[in-house]
Amino acid sequence: MKIQEADAKSLLVAQGLPVPDWEVAHTVEEARLAADRFFASGAEQVVIKAQVLVGGRGKAGGVKLAGFPEQAELVAGTILGMDIKGITVRKVLVGPAANIVKEFYMSAVLDRAAGRILLMGSAEGGVEIEQVAASNPAAIVRVHADPLLGLLDFQARQFVFAMGLGAQLKAGVAIAKGLVRTMRAYDADLVEINPLAIIRELDATGTEVERLVCLDAKVTLDDSALPRHPELEELRDPDEEAPADREAREAGLTFIKLDGTIGCMVNGAGLAMTTMDLVKRAGGEPANFLDIGGGARADRVAAAMRIILDDPKVDAILVNIFGGITRGDEVAKGLIEARAQQTRDVPMVVRIVGTNAAEAALLLEQAQFTTAATLDEAAAKAVAASRGAVA
Ligand code: GDP
Ligand code: MN
Repeated sequence: MKIQEADAKSLLVAQGLPVPDWEVAHTVEEARLAADRFFASGAEQVVIKAQVLVGGRGKAGGVKLAGFPEQAELVAGTILGMDIKGITVRKVLVGPAANIVKEFYMSAVLDRAAGRILLMGSAEGGVEIEQVAASNPAAIVRVHADPLLGLLDFQARQFVFAMGLGAQLKAGVAIAKGLVRTMRAYDADLVEINPLAIIRELDATGTEVERLVCLDAKVTLDDSALPRHPELEELRDPDEEAPADREAREAGLTFIKLDGTIGCMVNGAGLAMTTMDLVKRAGGEPANFLDIGGGARADRVAAAMRIILDDPKVDAILVNIFGGITRGDEVAKGLIEARAQQTRDVPMVVRIVGTNAAEAALLLEQAQFTTAATLDEAAAKAVAASRGAVA
């Protein structure tokens, strides 16, 4: 689950990391009030940032500075409602603008192959790390945190020196360790600070000082671990969840959209993957991965069908059910119900084996569904139906 920058920053602050102050505004008026407050407390400029779950907001014009309250109002007005990579901006972050001396990159990711948290750092901050990885891979330094011991002090110091951040060693070490702590505290699979910036500001005595702060924050949470953190569920942004993803989640379906034309409805993750493989072997391209789960009843089958048909690219559907706890006749009833409500007529091939397969076969025959006895046959028929639709 992706969360907005402002929410990611709240998590960082809760873990003791340095983040400049901010407020979230949903309207121009709110943005103006927030800017007024920051100007009143001494800011020379404010920064206004689109809150959308995509990167590269700066390049897209979604991050701007303003030097006085009326300008902040104007800038907020141009960013709110703006379209960034297909997403409409509905809220902005307003904060005192940082006077940036240098931008760095630091992130923690789950390295599944190593079974460890991997820290990555670079002196080439502010640009997308994929770009740095492609053009100058040596500019990225890496270190793994031990799953039991965490990131050790000497590792953190080596890492911070290697990324060219020796001038801010203490702060850099604290942030590196803080990223690992944040990963573990919330079961995150990514915590990315880009830019991690050295900024210049005045301290309480009016003396110019340099400080290391997290200017941007991107956190993604492991969906499978969310039940361990019910309070984080609130950070889900319904404005930006694809409608199909939302419907699937609410119906208890595991759904991943793909680019092909053959919609697949299967029970069990392993069988779903096998089904996709066989569709490909038969010459087709699956439009999705969809696991309706064990014991799926008619309403869940109907929901799955709606989600599949919502994808305009789908021109054939393959239903492959292995009845164990899931009863074949329940699935057949769900399919019949779904077809009755269906807005788009798409050829469908159904294979149901296992529990109550005979009852299912009778129901499907009465309803004149195309069926198949084996998975190979089902895949071949679905691919043929899809080709027929294209021709
Ligand atoms: P992203 O483009 O979506 O990654 O958004 P960022 O928050 O990283 O902002 C993009 C760029 O805007 C940063 O790399 C900075 O160069 C600049 N920027 C962001 N916040 C500030 C700020 O407070 N002051 C200044 N001067 N520049 C900022
Ligand atoms: Mn950024």
